[in-house]
Amino acid sequence: MRRMAEPYRIKTVEPLQMTTREERQKAIEEAGYNTFLLPSKVCYIDLLTDSGTSAMSDRQWAHMMIGDEAYAGAKSFDLLQEAVQEHYGFPYVVPTHQGRGAEHLISRILIKPGQHVPGNMYFTTTRLHQEMAGATFHDVIIDEAHDPSAEHPFKGNIDLDKLRALIAEVGAENIAYVNLAVTVNLAGGQPVSMANIEAVRALCDEHAIILWSDATRLAENAYFIQEREEGYADKSCAQIAKEMLSHFDGLTMSGKKDCLVNIGGFLAMRSEDILLKARELVVVFEGMPTYGGLAGRDLEAMAIGLEEALDDNYLAHRIGQVRYLGQQLIDAGVPVVEPIGGHAVFLDARRFLPHLSQDELPAQALAAQLFLESGVRSMERGIVSAGRDEQGNHRYPALELVRLTIPRRVYTDRHMDVVADAVIECFKNRDSITGLKFVYEPSALRFFTSRFEKLA
Ligand SMILES: *Cc1c(COP(=O)(O)O)cnc(C)c1O
Repeated sequence: MRRMAEPYRIKTVEPLQMTTREERQKAIEEAGYNTFLLPSKVCYIDLLTDSGTSAMSDRQWAHMMIGDEAYAGAKSFDLLQEAVQEHYGFPYVVPTHQGRGAEHLISRILIKPGQHVPGNMYFTTTRLHQEMAGATFHDVIIDEAHDPSAEHPFKGNIDLDKLRALIAEVGAENIAYVNLAVTVNLAGGQPVSMANIEAVRALCDEHAIILWSDATRLAENAYFIQEREEGYADKSCAQIAKEMLSHFDGLTMSGKKDCLVNIGGFLAMRSEDILLKARELVVVFEGMPTYGGLAGRDLEAMAIGLEEALDDNYLAHRIGQVRYLGQQLIDAGVPVVEPIGGHAVFLDARRFLPHLSQDELPAQALAAQLFLESGVRSMERGIVSAGRDEQGNHRYPALELVRLTIPRRVYTDRHMDVVADAVIECFKNRDSITGLKFVYEPSALRFFTSRFEKLA
């Protein structure tokens, strides 16, 4: 097979800091063993998140200069609205400062207290906004998604039987909407098939239920459909994305992912009624409906990035780079979530550290150890991220993962080699990795700011 290089050349460079083990030891202790609390200057290769960490193109930077900073009616809003209409197929858009701003608005608009929201696995901020609006979240993803070694081409799919059972149990009128994420972040960046989207749409139509999308990584999802689903090999990712979105009533978008910007998000929808409500709320929480908490230049960059992210060559390298890292780990026998998803490689901390129980926070401990060994920053996606239930008990998620998230257009494949070496080194020394315990735990979204100590 012919090798593929990055489909861009580098015009601006940002030097990386190298650190000693002693410096990293001090840094991780000061951070309470939480990689979120590390200063970025000690992180040699920063794979904490792909959120807002993309490198912008020369075209995006050029558009930053022509951003219209008018308080109302800026032409930069028109550019974004035209991009959403052309590439996503929705007539209306309401910008927000980032994805959770859009989640906040739509949760308030669509949810009546006591209602239910089914979705394909949860996402941290999404579920919290649904719960704060008075809803109960229900995970209706297929069982394979909870098994890190189960091979399935579309592990993000909704289980229609689970969704049907929920509708029968609570009644369609008590379901605020179905929230379908493409791809599914917490399942390992796993995609949803077009057939599944169509089937969910049909079921929602049968019961007059609104179908919303968390479209944060829709471009990556489109690439998997092109690669894996019958009948899509000859369609462009841009065409596939538009077809996917044609089945939804609206979406929330975190522009920090598949719009290739450092900040931004939006709601898009077909309903004028929802648009009116969103405009009423956005002025309270974000800003005027034509800027929603963003500068004109941010709207410009998002409009351009939204299109660039749908490019076939960009996506082939993007997904290829994630897979390139994943394959090196698989070849070395390191347990990872398979198949490799769209934006990250997920280490399976249960199998990596079988000597630790889930109460010993194995994924958190592994993320801390990887940083100490190499300066590579990753993130816990396990019991710490899952938080506590209404009774105050830990939620025990089936997946106990460390996420190596690849920023878009930032690192080269050579950086991926360095990351692979570091993880493999940790795997060789896995028996010496000990567990952690909480010493500080905030009440909501605890993974961001919790602090830990090593267990004796
Ligand atoms: C990042 C993310 C969000 C929230 O978006 P922010 O821009 O970080 O507020 C919502 N859903 C998914 C799947 C995400 O990955």
